[in-house]
Amino acid sequence: MSRQFDLASDLELQAREDALASTRATAQRETPAPSGVCPWCEDIAPASATFCGAECASDWQAHHARERRAAIISGAK
Ligand SMILES: [Zn+2]
Repeated sequence: MSRQFDLASDLELQAREDALASTRATAQRETPAPSGVCPWCEDIAPASATFCGAECASDWQAHHARERRAAIISGAK
């Protein structure tokens, strides 16, 4: 009886860790790594920065927040 309970809680833990791992993987994909080119306006970005400026960073974030909300509303993951 107790062994069945342990197995169930192991499975639950594994499922939770899988969900966390995929959330982390998604979060990492959301902000591109600095590449020298702004991913929003394709202008030249400073070497250590992802975006060319704060305006592009906030426009990009707002755009992706809208996309995420739309995906949640439509039931996509
Ligand atoms: Zn830009």
